[in-house]
Parts: sequence; C-alpha cells; structure tokens
Amino acid sequence: MQETVHNTGTVYLVGAGPGDPDLLTLRAARLIMNARLIVHDGLVDPAILSMARKGARLVSVAKRRSRHSMPQPEINALLVAEALAGKDVVRLKGGDPFVFGRGGEEAEACRAAGVPVEVVPGISAALGAAAAAQIPLTHRDCASIVSFVAGQCKGLTDQDWAGLAGKGRTLVIYMGVATSEAIAEKLIADGLSPDMPVAVIENATRPDMRVLRAELAGLPALVNGARVKSPALIVIGEVAAEPETELRAFARENLTMEFGQ
Ligand code: SAH
Repeated sequence: MQETVHNTGTVYLVGAGPGDPDLLTLRAARLIMNARLIVHDGLVDPAILSMARKGARLVSVAKRRSRHSMPQPEINALLVAEALAGKDVVRLKGGDPFVFGRGGEEAEACRAAGVPVEVVPGISAALGAAAAAQIPLTHRDCASIVSFVAGQCKGLTDQDWAGLAGKGRTLVIYMGVATSEAIAEKLIADGLSPDMPVAVIENATRPDMRVLRAELAGLPALVNGARVKSPALIVIGEVAAEPETELRAFARENLTMEFGQ
C-alpha cells in the first residue's frame, strides 16, 4: 500500500499593520498575494484581505472584544493541523504579531509540533497611530522613554504603572477604551498630573480615523462623549499635546518678552 507523504507546511505569522494596506511590508504583501490559506483575526482591514488571490481560503478567527471568537488553543490547533497536512499557512494579524498579538503562543505551538514558523513584522498600532496623528513618541525636549501597555483590567491590578507615565515619558495604552476611567483614576492616584495631555486615536491610518485630545482628568468624558470605539489607542504624555501653531509660538515668544512673564 502506498502512503501519501506530506511535506510539512510553514506557518507565516504575518503583521498586517494598523489598517492602511500601503503600510504592509513587501514581504507581507507578497505572502498575502500568493497564499492559498489565510487565517486572519478581526482587526485585519478588508482592503488587505481583498489582496488575496482568487480561490484563496480565508478563515476568520475574529478576536475583537465582545464578538465571538475562536479560543486560542483552537487557533493553535488549526495552524498546526493545516501545516502538518502539508499546507503553508499565512496567519495574518493586526499590527505586529509579537505586540499584544498572541504571536508568541502560536509560534510556541508550532515549534512544539515540529512545524516551521516564520515571523514577518508589521507596523504596530502605536507606531502607525503616532505617525498618522503626527505625535512623536519620543522627542528630545520632552520624552525619552516610551512604554506600550495593555489596558484591560487585569493589567491594571497586576502592574505598577506609576513609573511608566510622567515627565519625560510617553505611555501608549492598547485595548484601553473600555477601561479608560479606571486608567485615568489609577494614574492620577499614582501621582500623575490631572492636566497631563492625552490623545485618543481611533481607527488609526484608516479613512475613518479620529484623533481626539483632552487632559488626563477628562479622558473618560472624552471617550464617552465622543463614543470612542475599538480599535483605539490612548497616548499619555507631553508629546500628546496639541501641536503648537505658528501663531501660538509667535505669541508665546513675543508676548512673553513684552510682559516680562
Ligand atoms: N498586534 C496589534 C495589537 C493587537 S491588540 C498591534 O501590534 O498593533 C488590539 C489593540 O490594538 C486595539 O484594542 C487597539 O488598542 C490597538 N489597535 C489596533 N489597530 C488599531 C488602529 N488601527 N487604530 C487604533 N488602535 C489600534
């Protein structure tokens, strides 16, 4: 009896970036366009999925808050099973696969099963949003430390955020919309100034992007008032302040001298 021998396929953990297809790496674009099987999560923009070739199989394992999603062990098992059956799998994730993307868990599962893995980086939401909103995450004048944190409630009790925000620092919070009130309260209780600038960037790099600004104490009111929805990022720090206009800079320099303030 003849046995069918499969070569094991490769699992490509590919970062799809924050939304705009122009922000894909060339390697990601090539893999997406050539794939026969793409397993993607809910954050991957439809414009990116539409780059797949005709006849490609697209499997959604949507992982967005409050929507039904496939449990992580099942996703791992699916990737491994397809690869062991000889198929290359493009596992497409929003942003970068290794920034709050569970890419580490999927890579581990593949390695444990003897499935080759390749990781293709993507532009993480913090970088895409900062660029699109023209907020420099570091600035020689006011920020030389940047932290990326996950804003779910669990993180809030587990971690000491005290040192992450404040003078000279930029704090970028992923998945923090639903917990913005607790975040603001916690940071203020930890001693951060209630008037520290905050920017909220919703749907960064997509046609419906919104950039909203407030001071830390006003963050929950901003999020509720503007009905901010996921996906959105919160940036806290001096760099998040409204950029200074030429007029304001002129007024600051000249009027300060005149009034001696
Ligand atoms: N691996 C992803 C992050 C996944 S966690 C990355 O590197 O970007 C999901 C969170 O990412 C969302 O809740 C939101 O906080 C953020 N996010 C992803 N895409 C975004 C976008 N286009 N605009 C704003 N925030 C985004």
